Amino acid sequence: MLEHINSVCGKVKADSLGRTLMHEHLLVGVPGWETHTTIQAMSRPDMISLMVDRLAEAVDAGFQSMVDPCPSDMGRDVELMREVADASGMTMICATGLYTEGLGASSYWGLKARFGADVANELSEVMIREIEEGVGSSGVQAGIIKVASGPGPLTDYEKTVFTAAAKASNATDVPITTHTFHTEGLEQVAFLGELGVSPEKIIVGHSCGNGELQYHLNIIDSGAYVGFDQFGMTAIRSDEERIDAMMAIVGAVDTGKIIVSHDMVICQRGKLFSGERQEMGNVTPLHFTRKVAPKLLAAGMTQKQLDEILIENPRRYFIGPSAA
Ligand SMILES: [Zn+2]
Repeated sequence: MLEHINSVCGKVKADSLGRTLMHEHLLVGVPGWETHTTIQAMSRPDMISLMVDRLAEAVDAGFQSMVDPCPSDMGRDVELMREVADASGMTMICATGLYTEGLGASSYWGLKARFGADVANELSEVMIREIEEGVGSSGVQAGIIKVASGPGPLTDYEKTVFTAAAKASNATDVPITTHTFHTEGLEQVAFLGELGVSPEKIIVGHSCGNGELQYHLNIIDSGAYVGFDQFGMTAIRSDEERIDAMMAIVGAVDTGKIIVSHDMVICQRGKLFSGERQEMGNVTPLHFTRKVAPKLLAAGMTQKQLDEILIENPRRYFIGPSAA
């Protein structure tokens, strides 16, 4: 059971998290972005000012906390996070951990494995240090562990990263949040479970990209949380479909295992998209409040249930299984 949560500005009590967006990003850089040297990058002060504006809006709208589960191989910048958290008033929680084999740092860690390294052990040491002492020399401590797999079954590399994450979670009580391609959740929970991680310490990310009620109920039955964390990402699934799926869960069980967010990316390193397009999804953290919450309430969700999803579930998830 966790007494305190590491935010990028220091330790906070779980009871003080308040309304929490559980999966948003200030900055993402897909490995290789730094080779795209012909593009004009936004300056650091400009990025920070844009991020502070966006988050200050969310703070004004009643959000007190935000998890940025950017893994360490996707352009994570914890000092920038600290600066933005400090200036915006948002309590921000950053992650330790790695992305998928296909899109992350597998070149480096895979090569190390070929040269004989015990990668699971070395990586767990990295994660534990980032949680207990901080990332590099920044002093910024990670408050959540990020793992990712898919599409399809966990690869050997991903199993190594998951093994390191399980060790780090078991050693520190810090919970785990995952990335899926919408179908790998049960395998992730089962694999982490075999390594001693309680499902109640796992959020299966991007679960709302899957339209099958049974998929969601199976994850909830396991004890893990379902991430409805891509509202506004209509290229994958419309908000209406995500809302219908959430209300089906509420009808079948309750709201106790649902968390919400947008998977917003305020700034992207490099230039991933052609033309004017900048992002996968929406770029305001207020989309849920403005566009989604009213529809959930109209569909029969009570304000008490909505508050449970936004306030109580994040608190309970961070504190851990023995939480009252
Ligand atoms: Zn994300």
